[in-house]
Amino acid sequence: MQLQFLGATKTVTGSKYLLTTQNKKFLVDCGLFQGLKELRLRNWNEFVVDPKTIDAVIITHAHLDHSGYLPVLIKKGFSGKIYCTDCTMDLCKLLLCDCGHLLEEEANRANKYGYSKHKPALPLYTYDEACAALKQFVPVEFDQEITLENELNVTFRRAGHILGASSVLLKHQGASILFSGDLGRPHDPCIRPPEPVTQAQYLVVESTYGDRSHALVDPERELGVVINKTAKRGGTLIIPAFAVGRTQNILYYIYSLKKQNLIPDIPVFLDSPMAQNVTEILATHYQEHLPSPEVCAEVCKTAHYVSSVEESKLIDTYNYPKIIISASGMVEGGRVLHHIKYFAGDHRNTILFAGYQAIGTRGATILSGVSEVKMLGGIVKINAEVIALGDVSAHADYAELISWIRKMPTPPKKVFITHGELPAAEALKQRIESTLGWECVVPSYLDNVELEERTNN
Ligand SMILES: [Zn+2]
Repeated sequence: MQLQFLGATKTVTGSKYLLTTQNKKFLVDCGLFQGLKELRLRNWNEFVVDPKTIDAVIITHAHLDHSGYLPVLIKKGFSGKIYCTDCTMDLCKLLLCDCGHLLEEEANRANKYGYSKHKPALPLYTYDEACAALKQFVPVEFDQEITLENELNVTFRRAGHILGASSVLLKHQGASILFSGDLGRPHDPCIRPPEPVTQAQYLVVESTYGDRSHALVDPERELGVVINKTAKRGGTLIIPAFAVGRTQNILYYIYSLKKQNLIPDIPVFLDSPMAQNVTEILATHYQEHLPSPEVCAEVCKTAHYVSSVEESKLIDTYNYPKIIISASGMVEGGRVLHHIKYFAGDHRNTILFAGYQAIGTRGATILSGVSEVKMLGGIVKINAEVIALGDVSAHADYAELISWIRKMPTPPKKVFITHGELPAAEALKQRIESTLGWECVVPSYLDNVELEERTNN
């Protein structure tokens, strides 16, 4: 069996792994590259193999850096099935279609204001193309081994992180490989914790926070401090957040802070067209998250849902302290752009980042402390306070990663460290080598390795 790394090598986006067995080809994850332009350009490249020759795709979770390339793969001829958990399938319905919609909007805007080199600017894919991809999805239960194409055995195991997120164990003729997927934290207030690691000959592990330890602060209390400070200034708190995952955690913390009277009862606007649908998905998969259905209902009532673009613009003009939670989480698109444009110039306001900001994204640029940023075809001055709530991350830190992988009953033959910027991946490699003595590799883009087939695992 051969494994080729087609993304998430020395970076956090574009997750794609090609597994070639004697007779078939499988793709594990099919994510978009995001962030730096040199990475984003890969989304437009010829695919490394003819997508028509890929037999099936396995998706670990719904985030676009793991699923967002699917419509392109299908446009290029992939016609097989896409396997994932049912929660992931439901979330992909929202995320993929929304992504197609945003890509179209961005292309339209670029054409209208003439800020693209391409004439006309075209979207990577459209809303219709994204929605069409959903027909190829097949939902799979957690913890049940299934056989794909009479060739590859697959088991999805809970990985925490977001609803439906999984690690996948793959077996073929005595060879086994475990992909961690994005691994969540052991004590998330909303999502069930990752299931213990399973035995495999090879391990592909993420390293987003491979060089970092999450602060020992209570994120709820930290958020409370920021809300109080901003409200006292009469300002608006903007929280760019992934519509799925971080948004629900932030809402949970605000609900809890309000319940304890630790913050003023200022309005909370959830300005993401997907939010209501996500809420419905959460309600149908209540067994996958920790708060009871009753508490979930209360959490949802914490925010006012903004649906129309008109209302989204209107809330900017409300002249009182408020909280606006809006996507995208890395300020790469979505309605949060307009809110930042409106509020960033005033020092009374706060922009609070609540998740990982990949290098090259606008979120990372703002967080680096720049005084102005390019967006929506213009320059926006940043005078607002800019803060990162590192501890609400949906990714395990290095200590949590190591405590997860070290429980593998016998050491794997090799550990491949992916889904992290180079310093993070290298730091995790050194920690695994020094604490466990296991052989680790940080693969490069398009590296191809032969996985030995053995029968004792
Ligand atoms: Zn993710």
